[in-house]
Order: sequence, then C-alpha cells, then structure tokens
Amino acid sequence: MSVSSVFSQNINDSNQNESSEFSDGPYIIIEKNKLIEKLIINGKVSSKILRANAYDTIFPPDKAVFNKVKKIAAISDIHGQYDLALEILINNKIIDKNLNWNFGKGHLVIVGDVFDRGNKVNEMLWLIYKLESQAKKKGGRVHFLLGNHEYMILHKDLRYISKKYKLTSKLLNLDYDELYNKKTIIGRWLRSKPTIIKINDDIFVHGGVSKDFISHSDFNIERINELMRNSIDQSKSEMKSTDFYNIYYGNKGLIWYRGYFKDNLKEKDVSDILNMINSKHEIVGHCSNKEVVSLYNNKIFGVDSSIKNGKYGEILLIKKGKYFRGTLNGKKIRFK
Ligand code: ZN
Repeated sequence: MSVSSVFSQNINDSNQNESSEFSDGPYIIIEKNKLIEKLIINGKVSSKILRANAYDTIFPPDKAVFNKVKKIAAISDIHGQYDLALEILINNKIIDKNLNWNFGKGHLVIVGDVFDRGNKVNEMLWLIYKLESQAKKKGGRVHFLLGNHEYMILHKDLRYISKKYKLTSKLLNLDYDELYNKKTIIGRWLRSKPTIIKINDDIFVHGGVSKDFISHSDFNIERINELMRNSIDQSKSEMKSTDFYNIYYGNKGLIWYRGYFKDNLKEKDVSDILNMINSKHEIVGHCSNKEVVSLYNNKIFGVDSSIKNGKYGEILLIKKGKYFRGTLNGKKIRFK
C-alpha cells in the first residue's frame, strides 16, 4: 500500500474526554481515482489517501451451490463479539493463532448477523474479508451469508448499533450505514454476498426456509440471492410496491423465519420442506440457544449459540456426513 499523503485532524468538541481513548477503523471509502482510508486513533480521525488499486473495488456475486465438500464449519450471530469468535475459530482449528486460514480445503459458513449489538463489528468484517481470499488460495472457501441484521444496517435501520458506533459515526461525520454504502470497500463486498447457499445436500440460511416461502417462490437459489442483492439499495416503499417485501422480508422469509424453533412443527413438516427444496439438512442461525443444537432428528441444526452475550459459543462441524458441536475449548461432540 503506497501512501501519497497523510493528514489528520483534531476533534475538538464536547466528546474530547469520552473519545480520547477511542479507536476504530479502517473504513475505506472509494472516490473517483483514489481510496480514502479513515481511522480513528485515540479519538482523532486520520485520513490517508491510498492508491486506487490498493483494494479490489469490484466484487462479482458469490456462487451459491457447491458439491463434494469434505469438511464444513458453520457459525452465526457473532454480533460484534470478535474476541469470542476468534477463540472459537482458533480452538476449533479454523484459523491459527495469527488469525490466518487453517482449515485447508474446508468451507467456513458465517450464517449471518455479524452486525449490531457488540463493539467489534468492523474487525470481524475485515477478518472475514481476509480469510475469504486466504481460503480460496488453499482450495477452501468462506461464505458470508447476510442475516436480518446485515439487511437492517444496509437499509438504514440503526436501532441496534452499539454506543461505540454512534461515536464513530459522529467522529467521521457519516451516518453509520454510510460506512457500508456502495462507495466503500466493505459495502461493495457485502453487496456480493448470498443469503442462502447449498453445500452438498445441506442448505445454509440465516432464518430458515418456511413452507410459506416455498409456495411463494420458485425456490431457485441463485435467483433468490439475486433478488435479495438487488433489494439492498431499494427503498422500503419500492420493495413494498409488490408482494416482494412480504415474501422476502416478512416473518416467513429466509432472514426472519423462526418457525423451526417456535411453531411446534412436526418432523413430517420438516421432511416435507427438505424434500421440496431437494435437501437433506438445513443449517440456520437467528434463534439463540446455549449451544449448537439439533432438531427434528438431525434434520435442522441451529448454530446461533448465543455468542452475542460475549461469554460462550460454539461452531457446527460437518465432516464426511457426520455432524459435531465444536465447543469453545475445541472439543468435538458428535450429534447422534
Ligand atoms: Zn437474526
């Protein structure tokens, strides 16, 4: 990264004391022929101009269907708890102590909701961004599925951001969602991400697939992802001008559905759903449990293990068709 000029400015306002030990970033903004890196260090904003090619600025949409994958790990609802997520990933050998990819040809699936609540959202996003390219070089993959909280931020619903990000937003003089808009590196990268993917015979999606959703869509995974991507920069009123908003953003839609946990479904209902979507298992987040859980005879796995509380969390490990809880200290417990 070559730097052609560096300047910094003092922030002199009433927040001086509150913000003097405050650091955040980088946030990288794309301008016509250059990139601008914004950092907050001890309450001071520094802006650096980077070469236009210091980062990719075009991110083609991620593929969503994969076959013959031998090992998979799935984790969700990190909600800014970067340090705890690191512990889980390191102890389960997905990354090494230097935070580099350590999962070989494996696929790591982040099943949505990296944003909101916690304080280290940006750190987590940049880690996923880095691991994605490291994994690819080793024949592995990182999939970042967008959850309801990603879509909320991208649609300017800022109700759940932590206090820290209100200060970041104030110091940078940008609304929080503007830190992830189309004129930023991470914002563009997020817009290339899927909502639902299929690996081998398993579906991964943040909320889940409801009967209702299937009956209102032709359930074409690539098409669903395309529709969801296109909706990111649509206004609510545009989305609501058709039944799209109800079907895709409603409580039976893929990112908000909680039916597997709350609707008292029968095993037969779940088998029917899996048959209709031509899959054997579904891995979902969004509903918090104390650990990674299995429901309906190992048909559904819930991977939101309450990492959001910052105290404990787990990861789902799938190896040659066998399913395991990977605990915080790296113990593997098989689902029977
Ligand atoms: Zn969620």
